[in-house]
Amino acid sequence: MTVFCLGSINVDHVYRVPHLPGPGETLAATEVTTGLGGKGANQSVAAARAGARVVHIGAVGPDGDRMVAALAAYGVDIDHIVRVEDPTGHAIITVEARGENAIVLFPGANCRQSVARIAEVLAAAGPEDTLLLQNETSHQVEAARIGREKGARVIYSAAPFDVDAVRAVLPHVSLLAMNAVEAEQLQAALGTLAGTEKIVTQGAKGAWWHFGGRALHAPAFRVDPVDTTGAGDCFIGAVAAALDEQADRACALRFASAAAALKVTRAGAGDAMPARAEIEALLN
Ligand code: ADP
Repeated sequence: MTVFCLGSINVDHVYRVPHLPGPGETLAATEVTTGLGGKGANQSVAAARAGARVVHIGAVGPDGDRMVAALAAYGVDIDHIVRVEDPTGHAIITVEARGENAIVLFPGANCRQSVARIAEVLAAAGPEDTLLLQNETSHQVEAARIGREKGARVIYSAAPFDVDAVRAVLPHVSLLAMNAVEAEQLQAALGTLAGTEKIVTQGAKGAWWHFGGRALHAPAFRVDPVDTTGAGDCFIGAVAAALDEQADRACALRFASAAAALKVTRAGAGDAMPARAEIEALLN
């Protein structure tokens, strides 16, 4: 009944700019905001806010106090986030007027975790637990293997897409999650993976859940989008929380669609995940 998340913790610096800067160009930003990001942190917060007990396994640098405090404030267990010498992972996100963005990502501390420590935390996992993984940290493969050995449900976001990582993690995965772009990249590299249980999200077109030769679809809830950053992470965190409570796939899909719809009505990533009560209010 615990959702373990081995995942990145980033500081997102979001700069509003008139257009995306070209080579050699210096551009004044009209606005800057700083918030909690990283696919791992986003998924942890989404699952915790949706009602799950979440243990985050991660690493930050000496400058990471604010991000760890934010995770704790959102209800995530931070006891297994370690401090390392490298700077905390961060993203420099430039967003132009029409919403198009360009991102520079520095993984930093996220890739400075040890397999021994991850194994120590996951030693407590069992068949009733869930392990969430993405591609922004090191040691997903080892974690996935341990998670599966313990009988836990292993949910893996193939993002950012990396064919070698996917190939290595896939044999240990119970549920693969992707957005439409990642699904296309995966299909081009590895084929349809017909035997793999998977969720494919398609933005405003909703989401599909493929399993055992069947497919379930959930349309997206109609909202006025403000910022879609982290929508997929919100969706997956909410799926994990729902499955953790023994919800069936159809219920988990609808629950996650409601959560992700609420997220896109708000600016930010980790700081914009909806609370359980808000999700339930939208569903009823
Ligand atoms: P990602 O953020 O990984 O690119 P998607 O864009 O596919 O993922 O979005 C994930 C989920 O968030 C969608 O399946 C949908 O449920 C929800 N969502 C995304 N965009 C919208 C939108 N404009 N309106 C309502 N729901 C949305």
